[in-house]
Order: sequence, then structure tokens, then C-alpha cells
Amino acid sequence: MITLLGELVNMDSGSYDKAGVDRVGARLSQFFVEHDIVIRTERHAKFGDAIFAEVGTSGGGNRPIVLMGHRDTVFPKGEAGLRPFRIEGARAYGPGVADMKAGLVMNAYVLAAFRRFGGAPAPLLGLITSDEEIASPSSRPVIERTAKSALAVLNSEPGRPSGNVITGRKGGIFLALEVRGKAAHSGGSFKEGISAIGEIAHKIVALHRLTDLEAGVTVNVGLLKGGQSVNTTAPLAEAEVDLRYVRPQQRDDLLEKVARIVEVSTVAGATASFGIKGEFVPLIETEASRSVMAAYAAASGELGYAVGGEFSGGCADSGFTALSGAPTLCGIGPIGGRAHTADEYVELDSLVPRAKALALTILRL
Ligand SMILES: [Zn+2]
Repeated sequence: MITLLGELVNMDSGSYDKAGVDRVGARLSQFFVEHDIVIRTERHAKFGDAIFAEVGTSGGGNRPIVLMGHRDTVFPKGEAGLRPFRIEGARAYGPGVADMKAGLVMNAYVLAAFRRFGGAPAPLLGLITSDEEIASPSSRPVIERTAKSALAVLNSEPGRPSGNVITGRKGGIFLALEVRGKAAHSGGSFKEGISAIGEIAHKIVALHRLTDLEAGVTVNVGLLKGGQSVNTTAPLAEAEVDLRYVRPQQRDDLLEKVARIVEVSTVAGATASFGIKGEFVPLIETEASRSVMAAYAAASGELGYAVGGEFSGGCADSGFTALSGAPTLCGIGPIGGRAHTADEYVELDSLVPRAKALALTILRL
């Protein structure tokens, strides 16, 4: 497992790097072929292809248990060369090592084990997606279609540092905000200018004020750019904004408030507009998902680990599968932390226990 993990981590696979994402897919496909597992690929022109790995035959009312994972990372091309896979003590490091190449390795080995020994109560379907880190523009329809016919979905995002898994997640919306002003010489003809930067500053303060920690609503302007030169009133300013919420009803209310802030200008003459660039829906617990969690907790207990469910503010594809009606459990991958940073790590000692817990959970479904 560690050798395969090292190989995958050493391949760059940023979400927009189709060649890299497909290279990781090809390595996993090779593993599946070597273990006599049938694979199916759905090509995509812009993003990485979707890969299905089947153990047992699904379809015709024979609902599969889906083992899901994404193979893209947030890291740019060249990152793997700069800080390749390395092991220090009980931890392994490298881009995407926990989020979520370790989860993909775990899924691959569990599928191979069931292929070899049998015993699964339903067909197993590995689904390896390509663009989760940018809210799955190409994978979302594939995920939703797969989830609609699934008995359950087990998503191998990294397990919490505590060892717990994830039973609920926030919804998230990525917005692009554009403010338009008018360029003028800021010395010679100041009064003719309209500062887009002046206007976006007001909007940022107003947007951040929408944060309501108690309600689980957060607003973060994470990217900002604007202006033309130091001595020109800024004709344009742009921001990218991350909205998070807990309950589906909060979404429209939040967007309405954002729309009002975008519409109303403080700097006379400035105009603005916004658009949704990407979106995740919340992972909501259901009666059926609680029974999957119960099966997972019992399986882990059998192995000597007490595992509970946690709520996370992070978003993932599991929101889409839950929305599509599939009982879903997330964060069942090997234990790791500090995802999306250079300090990202995975606990190597958790690879086998988490794979066993997944296999035992499948047996209980
Ligand atoms: Zn992830």
C-alpha cells in the first residue's frame, strides 16, 4: 500500500491538469487490471476521465455499494518534484498524501481483497473522480447518476486526526465578484474617476459581516485583485468569495443578502455583478446514513477502535451522493491532517486498520 501511495503522490494531479489526473488514473487502472477487476472509463475532454472499477455485476436492481474517491489535488504542476513522497517516523508526507491518495489506495486494496476472496453482500463499485477540489464540474453528474442506484456510498476522504469519520458537512458556494469603476488620472482629473477598489472595500466589509458563527454561516473573501496603476482610479476590482452554510434553507437567504450587497453601491457610479463559480451541497444525515455509521462504528469496535461521527465545515462529493438519496458516510480514509498545505500528512499505521474497518463495514451492509 505504501509503495503504491508513494507512486501516486509523486504524480502531479492538480484539478486542471488533465494529463496528470489521467496519469494517476492509469496507474490505478493498472492495479485493477493486475487484480482482475473490470474497469470502465468515461472520457472527459477538459478534466480527468471518470473511472469505475467493478467487483460483481451491478444493474437490474442489483444495487452496488460505492467506494468513492477523487484523484485530483489542490497543488500546482511541479509540486510533487519539489517535495516528493517521504516518510518521517509514523507519518508520510507529500502533495495529496491524505487528501486523498491514501483513500484511493485503501479503496483499491479493499476492492482487490473482495475480488480475490468474495463475500461482499452486494456488487462493489469503485468510483474514481477527477475534479473534486474545484467542486466537481465534470464529475458531479457522474456522481449523482451513480449515487441514485447505490445501496450506500462510502467516501474515502481523509479520516479526522481524532480517528473519527464524517457524518455531516457544510454546503459551500464559490462566487466571483466583479466591481467596475472608471479610470482617470488620480492627480490631474481625480473627480472624473470612479474607484472600483474603493467600492469593493465596502463590499468586502459588508460580505464578511454576513458571517454568523452560531448559525454555521461563514463568508470569506479569499482572493482579491484590482487597479491599473498607483496613479489611476481603479477601473476594475475582482474578488472570489467562499460562502458556507449548514442547512439547505440557509443557502437562498445567504445568496439574497449577497445580491443586495453587490447591487447597492457606496461609491457613486460604481457597478458590480457576481456569479457562482462552483458549488457543493451539504452532507445531511438521514436515518439510513445513521445505520451505515452504526455499521462502521461496530466494525471499528470489533478491531479495537472507538470511532464516532463528526461534523466538518469542509465540503466534499459526499454532499452530492447524499442529495441523490444514497446513504452516505465520509471521511473513512486513512487518518491524516493539514490537507491543502505543505505539512499535509497521513498516519501510515492507519492504512491497514482503516481498510479492515471498510471491509468489515461492507460485510455488515
Ligand atoms: Zn478531498
